[in-house]
Amino acid sequence: MTDILNGYAATAPGALLAPFQFTRRHPRIDDVVIEIEYCGVCHSDLHQVHNDWGNTRYPLVPGHEIIGRVIDVGATVTRFKAGDIVGVGCLVDSCGDCSPCCEGEEQYCLNKPTPTYNGVDRHDGRPTYGGYSERIIVSEKFVLRIPDGLDPKAAAPLLCAGITSYSPLRRWNIGRGHKVAVVGLGGLGHMGLKFAKAMGAEVTLITRSAGKEQEARRLGADHVLVSSDLAQIGLAAGNFDLVLDTIPTPHDLNPYLSTLRLNGTLVLVGLIGPIAPAVHSGLLVTGRRSIAGSAIGGVEQMQEMLDFCAAHDINCDVEMIRIQDINRAYERLLKSDVRYRFVIDMESLKSRPAD
Ligand code: NAP
Ligand code: ZN
Repeated sequence: MTDILNGYAATAPGALLAPFQFTRRHPRIDDVVIEIEYCGVCHSDLHQVHNDWGNTRYPLVPGHEIIGRVIDVGATVTRFKAGDIVGVGCLVDSCGDCSPCCEGEEQYCLNKPTPTYNGVDRHDGRPTYGGYSERIIVSEKFVLRIPDGLDPKAAAPLLCAGITSYSPLRRWNIGRGHKVAVVGLGGLGHMGLKFAKAMGAEVTLITRSAGKEQEARRLGADHVLVSSDLAQIGLAAGNFDLVLDTIPTPHDLNPYLSTLRLNGTLVLVGLIGPIAPAVHSGLLVTGRRSIAGSAIGGVEQMQEMLDFCAAHDINCDVEMIRIQDINRAYERLLKSDVRYRFVIDMESLKSRPAD
């Protein structure tokens, strides 16, 4: 095993992803060494490659929907052994001491969790690099067991898109008798439909794309509303207990707030940034409605979500690509032209660029 690893990185804002070589730390006693087989392509990868959030450190090796095979484990590792199929999501570490960490919500670590890429290792200060690469080394605590019965390549997006839509549905106790709307049918949205349906809710997709209606019904939607048609949105006034909003860019929340019933909540998972145009507080006050946000999910809940998927026969709908096609995949993602998650077959990293 050589220390030099191959991957794909962006080296500056606006630069295309290109082959990149780098090293990772030597495994620590609690580490699991994983040969990466599949890696999902999240819209957050695109945001960070483009420095949309203003915090990207280059070179950036994206990828936080990782599925791979264990090839080595440190001396204290007990839950995994060589040969196991495992997953790694958006986080690889957290302080472990603060109250969110102690409650299993490492994503809200008060001392900042360590992201799988675009972060800094809290022990050695080295940059973290993600899953568009050959191998990753992760502390056992942040490694997930992939249940038998889940197709590993279709399970990759569960590690971000899956948990990000699952966690708020659990937080707001969604189940039979509830009405849930999912806004945006992309990676997160398609999993939101599947989970809300499996939890027993009546599910509506709100989309800009009238052409996605049939697909949405196949994925679990009982109803589809087209957001450009204000009359359709108007008909849904006062209807939903929960709106799961996955739109990645600033947008008017007012029409979506008006679709909430008394005590309903609009949960933002897509937008990270200022809300514009302004929200009319009358929509909050008159129906005791709330706007909330939600970030991925903790390690324990990720395992719960993976087990829920195995029990309910839920997987992601994926389009497999080669790493050499990643820039084209980003272009398509920007146009919402993906059904519903690109997953990179990392075997392609072994091919020469011209292959
Ligand atoms: P995606 O696959 O690109 O899906 C987003 C969907 O939103 C699109 O398919 C489209 O659906 C709709 N949309 C896109 N642009 C829009 C616009 N300008 N106006 C209205 N609707 C629009 O993205 P994703 O991977 O699901 O990620 C969605 C967002 O969640 C990203 O911003 C990502 O960074 C964020 N995210 C957050 C977390 C978290 O922890 N909170 C975790 C992962 C990702 P229709 O064609 O149906 O309209
Ligand atoms: Zn993601």
